[in-house]
Amino acid sequence: MIEFKNVRKVYEDGTEAIKGIDLKIPEGKLVALIGPSGCGKTTTMKMINKLIGLTSGTITINGRDISEEDEVELRRSIGYVIQRIGLLPHMTIEENISLTPRLKGWKKEKYESRVEELMNLVGLEPGIYRKKYPLELSGGQQQRVGVIRALAAEPPIILMDEPFSALDPISREQLQDELKHIQNSIHKTIVFVTHDIDEALKIADVIAVMRDGKIEQISTPRELISSP
Ligand code: ADP
Ligand code: ADP
Repeated sequence: MIEFKNVRKVYEDGTEAIKGIDLKIPEGKLVALIGPSGCGKTTTMKMINKLIGLTSGTITINGRDISEEDEVELRRSIGYVIQRIGLLPHMTIEENISLTPRLKGWKKEKYESRVEELMNLVGLEPGIYRKKYPLELSGGQQQRVGVIRALAAEPPIILMDEPFSALDPISREQLQDELKHIQNSIHKTIVFVTHDIDEALKIADVIAVMRDGKIEQISTPRELISSP
């Protein structure tokens, strides 16, 4: 479980991005952070993997205060997917996906079979795509690789910041379905940022609505649909 206690973030220029949030993100759930541009969604995500620090309050992961954790260690246990995918252009698809497992010292057979399993999970035929380079794939296919790369080393937590927003509607819908399927089959804690309410309703177990640096409401998709 990830827990925020009275977390505030004031940027150096004085912008109050997060104005005191309390949030519990249960293990194994997909939580969507939703809200208009500028409400603090990305800031919230970046604090979880210590890309930025907190001004006050605490964030704990399974009871351990992240301010006491080593950044490198912490980030190894968190997969991060962002909108601009950032695949390494001079590495093949297989090399991109297996990067973190290789850094962690996995044996060749283990990471090769993991790459194959993940590519199959998102419908990328390994025999065809394994040796290709990112720019030889479509935008939707590259995004799939971005998603499975974040999963490759089996991190218990995955942060996804508007990972599908640059995609065409069809790829987007397919990837939403695939993400749900992935989550059901491997049961990871996923924090997913979107400004698209339909996307949140479709994939989330819990929806946290943010506005102006605060969490306005936390509900299940069902509660949100039936609330006035
Ligand atoms: P969202 O992801 O919901 O669009 P952000 O977390 O990116 O919102 O931004 C929240 C607020 O903090 C906005 O007012 C934004 O302009 C501001 N902000 C974000 N990053 C910085 C920064 N590095 N320095 C100063 N202000 C920032
Ligand atoms: P997002 O699309 O995730 O909300 P933005 O496009 O708003 O992010 O911001 C892109 C980058 O610029 C981020 O690293 C963010 O922290 C930074 N940033 C955003 N707003 C400000 C700001 N007001 N001052 C300085 N940096 C900012």
